[in-house]
Amino acid sequence: MSSETLNQFLKENLDDLKGKGLYNVIDTVEGSNGPMITIAGRELINLSSNNYLGLATDRRLIEACLEATKTYGVGAGAVRTINGTLDIHVKLEEKLAEFKHTEAAIAYQSGFNCNMAAISGVMDKHDVILSDELNHASIIDGCRLSKAKIIRYNHSDMEDLRSKAREAKESGLYNKIMIITDGVFSMDGDIAKLPEIVEIAEEFDLITYVDDAHGSGVLGNGAGTVKHFGLSDRVDFQIGTLSKAIGVVGGYVAGKKDLIDWLKVRSRPFLFSTAVTPGAVAACIEAIDILMNSSDLQNKLWENGDYLKKGLKELGFDIGESETPITPCIIGDEVKTQQFSKWLNKEGVYAKSIVFPTVPKGTGRVRNMPTAAHTKEMLDRALAIYEKVGKEMSII
Ligand SMILES: *Cc1c(COP(=O)(O)O)cnc(C)c1O
Repeated sequence: MSSETLNQFLKENLDDLKGKGLYNVIDTVEGSNGPMITIAGRELINLSSNNYLGLATDRRLIEACLEATKTYGVGAGAVRTINGTLDIHVKLEEKLAEFKHTEAAIAYQSGFNCNMAAISGVMDKHDVILSDELNHASIIDGCRLSKAKIIRYNHSDMEDLRSKAREAKESGLYNKIMIITDGVFSMDGDIAKLPEIVEIAEEFDLITYVDDAHGSGVLGNGAGTVKHFGLSDRVDFQIGTLSKAIGVVGGYVAGKKDLIDWLKVRSRPFLFSTAVTPGAVAACIEAIDILMNSSDLQNKLWENGDYLKKGLKELGFDIGESETPITPCIIGDEVKTQQFSKWLNKEGVYAKSIVFPTVPKGTGRVRNMPTAAHTKEMLDRALAIYEKVGKEMSII
């Protein structure tokens, strides 16, 4: 017998979501998450994964993972601070620091986890955080966990940021002030204005925190948005994920040695959650080696991104203002957006719809994530399907 109150709560809320058409039925992918995926027995062109460089199914990573699993076993056996720090964890962190052009790095079990860990590891109730209104959910939750005061600034609005930074500084109310931003915003594909953000931070002595989940492996020769702008030694926290372009799982902070030393003794997911598996760590090391030795995959990613964007634009779709391979196709109306995505699926393209509250009302979009693993032929087929469905639904 479970609690009556719980049962009632769950039933009411599930029914409410289903009634409003907001209940998300999760698709199960049968097999690997590559440029083509199979769902319910149907093969689809996959334009919805974050596997930017196609590394999730790369042979070299698979081999590295198998090899490490044979040597170390399947689990790390403990949290990092007891005896779960294997020599390959240390090697990964050294590699990450080299990759990010910083003194040191610390790896976590996921990017989400990393934001929980790093923000609350440094900020507390005597501090304030200036946060871009479109920051990722894990940043928002990490900020809340820290108990610092959170002040949102309008998306990439540097006037607003500057005035809020000045106000926070001049109030004298706070010990520390931090600015947090995504490096690349995943819904529109726009890049944070880091040169101005760093300038404002230096003017008011603020801590800078850039979560580059969608920029690492994509911009700055792979090293990310901060490197792209030449700011590697002027940003305090460079956050990255090992789950997107790197193709595996995990997250990290790269920065000064003192910061990393502090996080190793104070960030709770590092102290109280078991270390990432040896196989995953070895695959990450392999991926970073590949990225540091060649830009072929990034070049292919950008080439594919540009090709898809050009094609959609020529067909007459509104693809917004993306500055990265992320390619939104803005439909507007929420219901129409969802219908469009379903119709694309029926014709063979898997591109998820994203609607309010994830994006503002009236800006519903189907978001396309081309990768280095897509072939021209796949993209041409996707474009033909976009044309067909777009015309049938009178969108173009
Ligand atoms: C995806 C994402 C994360 C979460 O990363 P995971 O490794 O998937 O947990 C964190 N921050 C941002 C900005 C993201 O886009």
